[in-house]
Amino acid sequence: MSVQVVSAAASSKVPEVDLKDLSPSEAEPQRGLSTAAVSSMAPPAGGGDPEAPAPTAERPPAPGPGSGPTAAAAAAFSPAAGKVPQASAMKRSDPHHQHQRHHDGGEALLSPDGTVTEAPRTVKKQIQFADQKQEFNKRPSKIGRRSLSRSISQSSTDSYSSAASYTDSSDDETSPRDKQQKNSKGSSDFCVKNIKQAEFGRREIEIAEQEMPALMALRKRAQGEKPLAGAKIVGCTHITAQTAVLMETLGALGAQCRWAACNIYSTLNEVAAALAESGFPVFAWKGESEDDFWWCIDRCVNVEGWQPNMILDDGGDLTHWIYKKYPNMFKKIKGIVEESVTGVHRLYQLSKAGKLCVPAMNVNDSVTKQKFDNLYCCRESILDGLKRTTDMMFGGKQVVVCGYGEVGKGCCAALKAMGSIVYVTEIDPICALQACMDGFRLVKLNEVIRQVDIVITCTGNKNVVTREHLDRMKNSCIVCNMGHSNTEIDVASLRTPELTWERVRSQVDHVIWPDGKRIVLLAEGRLLNLSCSTVPTFVLSITATTQALALIELYNAPEGRYKQDVYLLPKKMDEYVASLHLPTFDAHLTELTDEQAKYLGLNKNGPFKPNYYRY
Ligand code: NAD
Repeated sequence: MSVQVVSAAASSKVPEVDLKDLSPSEAEPQRGLSTAAVSSMAPPAGGGDPEAPAPTAERPPAPGPGSGPTAAAAAAFSPAAGKVPQASAMKRSDPHHQHQRHHDGGEALLSPDGTVTEAPRTVKKQIQFADQKQEFNKRPSKIGRRSLSRSISQSSTDSYSSAASYTDSSDDETSPRDKQQKNSKGSSDFCVKNIKQAEFGRREIEIAEQEMPALMALRKRAQGEKPLAGAKIVGCTHITAQTAVLMETLGALGAQCRWAACNIYSTLNEVAAALAESGFPVFAWKGESEDDFWWCIDRCVNVEGWQPNMILDDGGDLTHWIYKKYPNMFKKIKGIVEESVTGVHRLYQLSKAGKLCVPAMNVNDSVTKQKFDNLYCCRESILDGLKRTTDMMFGGKQVVVCGYGEVGKGCCAALKAMGSIVYVTEIDPICALQACMDGFRLVKLNEVIRQVDIVITCTGNKNVVTREHLDRMKNSCIVCNMGHSNTEIDVASLRTPELTWERVRSQVDHVIWPDGKRIVLLAEGRLLNLSCSTVPTFVLSITATTQALALIELYNAPEGRYKQDVYLLPKKMDEYVASLHLPTFDAHLTELTDEQAKYLGLNKNGPFKPNYYRY
C-alpha cells in the first residue's frame, strides 16, 4: 500500500488521493534525483557545479541495478515517476548539521559502551550493548539523575512554554508515576498528570483540528481503507494539541500508537489526559525529571505482547533508547521518521558509520517543512514572542537581525511590516545580497550595536553576540535568539560577579551593569518563539501531514524500495502535503494542458520540480 496522488491540480477541493496498493511492478526500488544524479547532470569538471557532492564516503550506497544516477534522474522526470513516489538519499550538507555538532558535542547515536557488529548490507545488523538493564529511580527528584551515558538531547530540555498547561495543577506535587489512574474504560496503560483534565484537553484538540485541514482530509479519505492497519507506532514528540490531532489521525488510518514526550517541559497535561482518556497509551507530563523522561520512553517500548514496527521521533532520543536497550526490536521495525535537525544529524552519522539498520525518513529537510516551518512560523511568532515578554511597540524601533536565512527572512519581514528600521548581518554574500535587494541595510554587528533597540540572532551559529557586543549595547536593548540552540548569544559571559541579574517576568531577565545600564535578555538566549509565544497550528499541520505521509510510505513500501539509509520524502508527497492545505485559502491551482506538460517534460500530476529546485 502506498499513497498515490491522483489529481492534485486545478481544484479548490481536497485533492483526490488513492491510499491503495501499488502493483509489484510499480513498486520497484527507485530513488529520486539523488545528489549523485544531480551531479551527473551538472556541467563537467572545470565548469562543474560546486554544489554537486564529490564522490566520497558521504555518498549514499549505490542504488540497485538499473537505478543508477542516470536512470534515477530519468525516472524522476519520466511520466512513470508520477506513479511511484521516489525517494532521494541525499546527504546533508547544510549548516544546521555543522552547528549541531557544537551543541551536541558531536555525539553519535550509539554511545561508546555499545558495540555494533556489522552484517552484509542486505541483512539486518545485530547490535549488542553492554548495559542491557536500566534501573529507574523509584522516587525521581525534580532534577533527576543522569542515568545514561548520554544525556537527553538539547531539544528535550529547551523550554517550550507555547505548550504551557492552561489549567493550574501546581497544587498537585505528586509525581504521576506514584499515582494510580484509570480512564473511563478502566485502562491504566498510561501515565499523565491528571486524567480528570481530559475534557479540557479534548477542547484544545478540537480547536487544533480547525487549523489542521490536511490531517482531517486524510482521515476522511481513510474511512474505507486503512493504510496503517497493523502499524505499531511508537512516538516521541512534543505532546500538544497538534500532536494529538496527528496521533488520532494515525489511529484513524489503522495504526496503534504509544507515545512519550520529546521535551521535559512541553507536554500539555490536558491534552495528554484527553489522549489517555480516548485510549492512547501516553506517558508524559509537563516538568518531567530526566529519570522520568527515560522511564516514559521505556514504558512506550518495553511492553508485554506489543512491539513497535515504526518509530516517529523528534530529537533522536527514542531511537537512541531502542538502539541502546532493545536492539533486537529493529528486526521488526520497518522504518524511522525523524523530524528534528538533531535527530536527522544522528541518523546520518549512523548511516555513514554503516550502523543504521532500518530505512529512515528525514522529514526535517522536506521542502514543506523547511520553507514553511522556518520562514512562515518565524514570521508570525517573532512579534508574538517579543510582545508577550516586553509589551514593546515595534514602529520606528531599530532592530538588527543576525542571519538572513529562512528564519531571518521571516523575522525581518514581520518587523519591517510593523514599521521597524531593520538592519541585517550576514556572512554569506548570496543571502547578504538578498537582504539588500529586499530593502534591508547590510551591516556588521559592531557598526550598529550602540544604536539598536533589539538584537535578534537566527544563524544556527555560536557566539554571534559576544560579551563585547553586550557591553556596548545601549540601555534597555532587548536581546533574543530565534536559532535552534542557545549558543548564539554568549549568555555564559554575563554570569560574572559585576553584573546583576533580575528576573522581572517569566523568561525575561534584566542584566544590570555597574553603571546602571541594563539589557533585557529573553528566554536566557534560548529559542524565543518556542519559549515565549505560540507557534501557528497551520504550520504545524504541514509538518504533521508530512510525518503521517512518511510513516505511510515507509510502512507500505515494498521490500527493497528503501535500504538502510536516510531518505528525503519523495517530492511528489511534498507537493501533495502542500496541495492538501490549499483549499483553506480557496486557492485555485492551474492544471497543465497536455501540450504544456509535454513541452516541459512533466507528468500532469507532478512532480513539478526537480529535487534540486530551491523554491
Ligand atoms: P539558514 O541556514 O537558512 O540561515 C542561517 C543564516 O545565518 C545563513 O544564511 C548563514 O549564512 C547566516 N550566518 C551564519 N553565521 C553567521 C554569523 N556569524 N553572522 C551572520 N550570519 C550568519 O537557517 P534557518 O533555516 O534560517 O535557521 C536558522 C536557525 O533557526 C537554525 O538554528 C534553525 O534550526 C533554527 N530554526 C528556528 C525555528 C524557530 O521556530 N525559531 C524554526 C526553524 C529553524
